[in-house]
Amino acid sequence: MNTSLMALRDRISRALNSIKDPLSGKGLADAGRIQGLAVTAEGRVRFALEAPAGAADAWGPVRDAAEAAAAAVKGVTGVTAVLTAHAEAKPASQSAHRTPEGVAGVRAVIAVASGKGGVGKSTIAANLACALAASGRKVGLLDVDVYGPSLPTLFGVAATRPVMRPDKKLEPVERCGLKLMSIGFIVDPEQAMIWRGAMATSAVRQLLDDVAWGTDADPLDVLVLDMPPGTGDVQLTIAQRVPLAGAIIVSTPQELALADVRRGMAMFDKTHVPVIGVIENMAWLETLGGRMYVFGEGGARRTAEALGAPFLGEVPIEIALRESADAGAPFVVAKPDHPLSQAFAAMAEAAMENAARAAKPAPVIRFE
Ligand code: ADP
Repeated sequence: MNTSLMALRDRISRALNSIKDPLSGKGLADAGRIQGLAVTAEGRVRFALEAPAGAADAWGPVRDAAEAAAAAVKGVTGVTAVLTAHAEAKPASQSAHRTPEGVAGVRAVIAVASGKGGVGKSTIAANLACALAASGRKVGLLDVDVYGPSLPTLFGVAATRPVMRPDKKLEPVERCGLKLMSIGFIVDPEQAMIWRGAMATSAVRQLLDDVAWGTDADPLDVLVLDMPPGTGDVQLTIAQRVPLAGAIIVSTPQELALADVRRGMAMFDKTHVPVIGVIENMAWLETLGGRMYVFGEGGARRTAEALGAPFLGEVPIEIALRESADAGAPFVVAKPDHPLSQAFAAMAEAAMENAARAAKPAPVIRFE
């Protein structure tokens, strides 16, 4: 960081210290309430304000005051403060009970999950979201992958910051007909990674609640949630606290990955979230000599069938898919007529049908 940025950061720290932590009476920075303070060269400021256990709601005014104090510092062009409370969520092991509240302005939330990182979960989530938008639905995509938010890169909006509206809601970034929000817009990826589980979870809840996704009159049809990889406490707590209409599990075909599919299914089962599809990614590589099954053949399909989960389809290893991800334009948007784009559309439709079916109450059988 250059010296003028460091000086700006110091001024912001001092300004934040002028707001007192209501508990200790110390300034917010000295009290250790400010986490992940980041300043860009353009003067945009981001930080997380850590409220005491379970007190996030009551700390709204403290956040507002901290935001105003930072915004008043000379050289600051914008401030995003996210409120977290690290004991708000119960440890997952103590409570598998699910009490999710709805998300304002959103009809249905579906999660895209994976047992581990690097299997293409974010790439698939982005392309499914684009396919749903292309079908005429109003779609949002929320990246809550605290271990490596990739949505800003996938959509070429890494330098963009969401705007805070006068009503304190964040305006999602619009791109490819989608409303986008990422934990990566709010905090530095390195900072997101070291957040303790429950803090990350309360930040996720805030991203659901404090973002202007839609209105009651004009809601999003579907919000796609790009989950953090894995099936630990963070993931379980998200599955408990977010009203998920269904979950899609992405896996590569090899045996090792399939153990993760089983764990993912068990996690959603525990939280009563219907698994609305399994997708096998990197299923094969097309070569001049035919398909090469780099990671084995059909493993995810067999596992899904064995576990009674709907199988949505395979996505081959496709260099253009990786290239479009790196270029910041999802494949489905860059190559709408490609057979793989049509496959994404079919998988997205099948998943939505499965979610609708899962939402219907089971038919009552009467014996007369
Ligand atoms: P995850 O979200 O599971 O960590 P990503 O979606 O970030 O995984 O994908 C990891 C890398 O693999 C990215 O560089 C992405 O472009 C690439 N990738 C994902 N799926 C495919 C595929 N089917 N063919 C080629 N590259 C892929």
